[in-house]
Amino acid sequence: MPQRVYLDWNATAPLRPEARDAVVAALDVCGNPSSVHGEGRRARKVLQDARIAVARSLGAQPENVVFTSGATEANLLALTPGLHRSETSPVERLIVSAIEHASVLAGGRFHPDQVRIAPVDSSGVVDLAQLSGLLADEPPTLVSVMLANNETGAIQPIVEIAELVHAWHGILHVDAVPAFGKIDINFNELGADLLSISAHKIGGPKGVGALLVTDGLRGLEPALTGGGQEKGRRAGTENLPGIAGFGAAATIAAANRERFAGHAAALQRRLEAGLKRIHNATIVFSEGASRLPNTTLFTAPGLQAETAVIAFDLAGIAVSSGSACSSGKVQPSHVLQAMHVGSELAQGGVRISLGWETTENDIDRALEAWRKLVGALGKRNDETVLERF
Ligand code: PMP
Repeated sequence: MPQRVYLDWNATAPLRPEARDAVVAALDVCGNPSSVHGEGRRARKVLQDARIAVARSLGAQPENVVFTSGATEANLLALTPGLHRSETSPVERLIVSAIEHASVLAGGRFHPDQVRIAPVDSSGVVDLAQLSGLLADEPPTLVSVMLANNETGAIQPIVEIAELVHAWHGILHVDAVPAFGKIDINFNELGADLLSISAHKIGGPKGVGALLVTDGLRGLEPALTGGGQEKGRRAGTENLPGIAGFGAAATIAAANRERFAGHAAALQRRLEAGLKRIHNATIVFSEGASRLPNTTLFTAPGLQAETAVIAFDLAGIAVSSGSACSSGKVQPSHVLQAMHVGSELAQGGVRISLGWETTENDIDRALEAWRKLVGALGKRNDETVLERF
């Protein structure tokens, strides 16, 4: 039986051995990081070391980091009405791009009436002219745009967006989950006021993440209230093993980022050239945009994403249809809809996302499965397609 091939790294990545070691070591640290005694101080040191590691991996300061239960919570914490700087008035409205993760599209703690959607162009990149118009309508606004999209990999012009938002005295939140560890991120140079990340996408454990908060930002109301942990920004005893694993994963991800990006880009070229060579009607979404080196969302006329995912799975290969969070529901991807992809093609988006363990052989296995799959396109029904696997 051939080995399974995992090509769904944007859904989650395997735990890095260094992260596992850090988690296991922290499980045996008995103190509560908030306690003043020696045991508490030992736990606080684990917490602080991880905070420094996460901050460093993003060119930020440890004080900028608020640990959370993941990026979903970081996004909820970020999307707070009333945020402001000393010289600006509190934001009352939220603008989110149409391609955000569900946890951003949900609007955080804004009333749905106060949320506006910024459109993207046909390559899945935020339309700056339209964003500018929305900003001018109702300043000051909180704006949330992801650094790179988790389905297409399209990288957004965050530096330009930050300039625009700040010119209108707004605040910018960036969901950097899919981009973290794949492209260089410097929190200060990016211009974001708030930035969300998640450990499990970079080889840390699931259920831990962070919100980076810029110096001088005011009005960040905690979403979880109670104790004064995380400088009053997130109550609750910290998930010390998870956070320790996050710190270890962040250090390795930052150290290996450039090498990984080169490795992934070469595999991505091999994959996309192969997909098209096998079936010249293959469409790679956001092909014209700059994209993450590890993410390819593609389809072909007549392809049903759900059937394709099952076919790949039967061939021993894990891929996903659009975002993992929405798989299981047979719905066209909201990202492809926002790009005005016709509903038939939008039903067929298959995502292959690569990681640091992906090999050329893995890509070739996926291409073999693609050859079989497209050979069956146009057959009467999905069962006939799957009979080949
Ligand atoms: N934002 C994006 C873009 C994501 O892909 C995800 C994970 N699917 C999240 C936020 C949520 O992260 P977490 O799983 O840590 O809650």
